[in-house]
Amino acid sequence: MSKNFDTRKIHGGYQPKDFNYSATVPIFQNVAFDLDDTRRADKAVRGELPGAFMYSRVANPTVDVFEKRINELDGGVGAVAVASGMAAITYAILNIAEGGGRIIAPLDIYGAALDEFRTLFPKYNINFDFVESINDFDEVNKLIKPDTKAIYAESVSNPITNIADVSALAKLAHANKIPLIIDNTFPTPYLFNPIKYGADVVVYSSTKGIGGYGNVVSGVVVDGGNFDWTKEKFPQFFEDEITLKKPGRKDISFAGVFGKKAFIQRLRTKYLRLMGAVLSPFSAYLDLLGLETISERIGKEVATSLKIAYFLDENEHVERVFHNGLLNTNQKELVKKYYPKGIGTVFSFKLKGTQTNVEKLLNSVKIFTYLPNVGDNRSLIVNPSGITHREVPKEERKSQNISDTLIRLSIGLEDPNDLIQDLNQAINKAFEG
Ligand SMILES: *Cc1c(COP(=O)(O)O)cnc(C)c1O
Repeated sequence: MSKNFDTRKIHGGYQPKDFNYSATVPIFQNVAFDLDDTRRADKAVRGELPGAFMYSRVANPTVDVFEKRINELDGGVGAVAVASGMAAITYAILNIAEGGGRIIAPLDIYGAALDEFRTLFPKYNINFDFVESINDFDEVNKLIKPDTKAIYAESVSNPITNIADVSALAKLAHANKIPLIIDNTFPTPYLFNPIKYGADVVVYSSTKGIGGYGNVVSGVVVDGGNFDWTKEKFPQFFEDEITLKKPGRKDISFAGVFGKKAFIQRLRTKYLRLMGAVLSPFSAYLDLLGLETISERIGKEVATSLKIAYFLDENEHVERVFHNGLLNTNQKELVKKYYPKGIGTVFSFKLKGTQTNVEKLLNSVKIFTYLPNVGDNRSLIVNPSGITHREVPKEERKSQNISDTLIRLSIGLEDPNDLIQDLNQAINKAFEG
């Protein structure tokens, strides 16, 4: 029986009979698993016991359920959970471009990701070609060079909510035999499934809307399983891998042994196992709890964020609202195609006035919490130019509409009218005599 999203979010990846009939997913806090006897140990190390666990850095039953559940929600062939969204991004990129190469990405991405792409990956010989808009296909096409190894984008960008045309980008990438990586943190699997539209690798900061309660830092990489890795550009999937050695097996490469799952299996074996940014079982448990209410939370938050966006749109002190779920957006067609349930719970607005007005506003909110996070049940507010996008050079911030008077909101589960009143009184205070 094929199950709908809301059934998968509760039951996906979990069989109570495999866990002493526990109705909810137990926390396996143990580091290692009994090998029982030398025959079973031999089989286990050769990977001949599917689903056998040995050591919790590589795989753990609680984390495994979380990985399987996210994978089911997104329609991939496998997922690996890691200790943070940044670890998910880092491992996904290294698994594709290790050894050197180029990646095309837009400038309007998560601040730490941009800093990593600009200042850290080049030290590993992975260089980025940045574009103003990832939907400028001519420009993207022009930048594809012989050593370009991927296109990277956020499905809904932070903090301006630009929407990437994922189908078109996937076509462009695949025509050039390179994969498309999508950071789908803002929509979460509830609002958008990038793999359905051709994305090859999806990364999440599940710290945000997936966890949902602002109490767990975590990340996930999901493999779409459809990309055809070539020997020329991605030799790592075709090399001999000693951990895959076993009697009678000729091809001991990830592509040879795992086929469609080569990418995600390699990420677990070479990056999670060796670099070790492992998700703790307790954190996986919190993420699983978050997933159980994802539709209800995000559904309400999307509705509230639209109400608030319309309120701000009419406020005399607001110059512009950046929320592409609004009716007047120039990305209406993309919203209709990809986001029938809404684009998310995070958006921004530009205040008329100066940084002083912004500071007064931030110091006057009573319900919104002032901090650099998103996707919490609590409503959050922040000034990107001073906090989350501080490391982005001013010129580039400008070109991406991240001015000093831009304010980002992440809408939670409070009463929508209370949130509107809170913003209204804070805006009024910001412009008082
Ligand atoms: C927060 C965030 C990240 C980084 O995730 P962490 O869990 O904080 O490491 C990456 N991408 C986007 C879009 C984010 O919002």
